[in-house]
Parts: sequence; C-alpha cells; structure tokens
Amino acid sequence: MPFEKKIYLSSPTMHGEELKYVTEAYETNWMSTIGANINSVESEISKYVGCRSAVALSCGTSALHMAIKYAGEKAYGSTIPGKGALRGHHVFCSDMTFDASVNPVVYECGTPVFIDTEPDTWNMSPEALEKAFEQFPEVKIIVFAHLYGTPSRIDELMKIAREHGAIVIEDAAESLGATYHGRQTGTFGDYNAISFNGNKIITGSSGGMMLTDDEDAAAKVRKWSTQSRDNAPWYQHSELGYNYRMSNVIAGVIRGQLPHLEEHIARKKAVYERYREGLKDLPVTMNPTGDEETTPNYWLSCLLIDPDAMCKWNRTYSTYSYESSPGHSCPDEILDAIAALNAEGRPIWKPMHMQPIFKDNPFIKVTEESVGEDIFARGLCLPSDNKMLPEEQDVIMDAIRRCFR
Ligand SMILES: *Cc1c(COP(=O)(O)O)cnc(C)c1O
Repeated sequence: MPFEKKIYLSSPTMHGEELKYVTEAYETNWMSTIGANINSVESEISKYVGCRSAVALSCGTSALHMAIKYAGEKAYGSTIPGKGALRGHHVFCSDMTFDASVNPVVYECGTPVFIDTEPDTWNMSPEALEKAFEQFPEVKIIVFAHLYGTPSRIDELMKIAREHGAIVIEDAAESLGATYHGRQTGTFGDYNAISFNGNKIITGSSGGMMLTDDEDAAAKVRKWSTQSRDNAPWYQHSELGYNYRMSNVIAGVIRGQLPHLEEHIARKKAVYERYREGLKDLPVTMNPTGDEETTPNYWLSCLLIDPDAMCKWNRTYSTYSYESSPGHSCPDEILDAIAALNAEGRPIWKPMHMQPIFKDNPFIKVTEESVGEDIFARGLCLPSDNKMLPEEQDVIMDAIRRCFR
C-alpha cells in the first residue's frame, strides 16, 4: 500500500515563527530587499558560522556567482563588462555535485576542469587535485562542494590550494551547520556560498548567502547584487550590476527557521541512523560521514550497493533498465520500489564530466575507474525528510530489502 501522503526527499519543515517575521515585514511595509529581517539573518548567520560578513542574496547560485566573479577579478584583474571575469582561464571544480556548483564559472566565461571524487567523503579528491595542478599549474581558483552535508577532506584540499596560491570557494549549499575539526563549513574558503532553497537543511523557500572574512569582498558583492549603483545623486554605474539581493520577506522565513537548525540536524541524523541500523543485514553501506573530528549535518541519507551485489543494469542517455536477480539489486530498481510507495528517492548527482554540456571539459582522476562514476552507478539518495515517521521509514526499508530477494 503506497503512503497516502507523499514522503519527500527533503521538504521544508516550518515552525510558526516564520510567519511572525513575514507578517512583521508586511505590517512595517518592508516588502523590499531592505529591512530588519535581512539585517538580522546576515548577522545571525555570520555569528553562527563564525565569519566576518554574510551577504544575503536571492539564492545559493547567485552567491556562488558573486563569489566566483570576485575571485576572478582578484586573480585576473577587473572585468570588462560582458567579457566575463574568467575568460580564457581554467577553474578546478568538484565533479560529483549539482550543476549549480559549476554553472557560475561558465557565467563568467571560465572553463571548469573537473576533479574526481574520493570515497572517504564523496567530495573532491585531494590526490586528484594535486595531479590537476601538475597538468594545469597556472590555475588560480578552486570550487569544492560538501556533498549531502558531509564536509570534504578540507585540510588537505586547503593545503594544496595554499601551496599553489589558489583562491578557494566552498560550495556549502548542502552543509550548513556541519563542522570539520571544530569549525563550520563555509568558513574555510575565501568566498563561500550557502543556500536556503526549499529542500535544504533550513529554508526561506529560496535564498542564499555569500560568506567571507574579506570585508571589501562583502561590500563589493553588496554593490554588485543591487545593480552596482555608484555613490552619485542619479543612477550611475561604473560596473555591471545584478539584481541578486535577498527579499526581506524571504529573510523573514529564514529568520524563523534559524533557531531550528540544530533540531533539523538532529532529526536528519536520526533518519540516517535508522537507515544504517535497519539496513545492516543488506550488502549496502551508507554515505560517509567523514573522520572522527567531522560532524555532518546529515542533509541526505544515501545508500551505496556493494559491487558484487549489483544486478545487471544499464543506463543510456535518458533511459534505464535492469534485470533483478536474487541477492542483487541496483539504484534504479530501488528508486522504482520507493516511487511505488509514493515516496521520493533520487539518483546520486550525475558527475559533471558525464554531463552532455561538459563533455569536452578536462576531467582529472587518479584511479583507472572514476570514483564519482562508480558512486553514481551504485548509489542513490533515500527519502530523508525531517518529518518522516519511524514506521514510515520501516516500510521504505522493507521495500529496499525486497529488492535484494
Ligand atoms: C542547492 C545547491 C546549490 C544552489 O543553491 P540554490 O539556492 O538552489 O541556487 C549549489 N550547489 C549545491 C551543491 C547545491 O546542492
């Protein structure tokens, strides 16, 4: 019997305070990209993660765009409007990630070079990054993501970046609240991005922020994101502008969510632990959580099927097929079983080097078979909603178990 009410991968969880701050914006008439909610969330987030400046923007993608544009100007000099800050330059990017991680590099006319994934955290491989610098020693900018809320091997990545004098941008869109060696993600890189998209750990329905300790960068991004108005009595522009600022209404939702961040993380962790316990007897492992000094935010629970427990499967450009056999399964079979329950799972992010749009971009790996390609083939994201009941999760786990019968 399918669930009467659909169980989502990760849906918004509201608490009531959101409405209070949204109403406040309405009643004070700050229905604008200026207002108390914006000021409050900027200062609360910077205090919480421990950075000097947080700039509230329309989404995580615009935060990444501003971070990358600023990094580009810093590395290569100021941009000729319309020419792109990265024209003619390569940028090292995570390979297994959401394409919003990478697109802003292309908005600025740069060429992403994709760095393969490592198995310990499912993030950018420091070994592959090292190899990439041998091939492209001139590269000045690195963008790496913390997938599914598990921080990367940050110390190693940062060490390599610093040795080569590269600017680092952390895509912490999925990892708000996660810590690495006692420090929040989004504070290691030079210019970093978080997201408040509807399916993230906390949400404003949309929204994002650029985080940095560089106050000049924060001031510049504030200017760019509000159409680059010069300090003049009329509309005057000496730089290209963007309409990227966060709305005070959206900021109200985020302001109401912020006090519940820790609680959301605890609930996501409980979901993860229940899967790990409940699926112990199957030939599967859960997504990694990093070393002992790492605390993920457990945004999504993912499953990786053991290589010898994979059934026969095939994926083409846009279709899939599999042949189920006893003791074996594959991500597409499990995703079908989850969908049949009226629940939502998802494939792992399809690596960027496998994307039609990026088929000609360089891809650097250190193993014969790409680690990211392998995780994409054997992995999947499980329904990870905060509001899922243990009984419901049991039904999902039974369905997964049946796939291996
Ligand atoms: C969600 C996400 C983004 C983009 O954030 P938006 O707020 O949706 O623009 C970027 N990178 C990663 C890894 C994400 O998961």
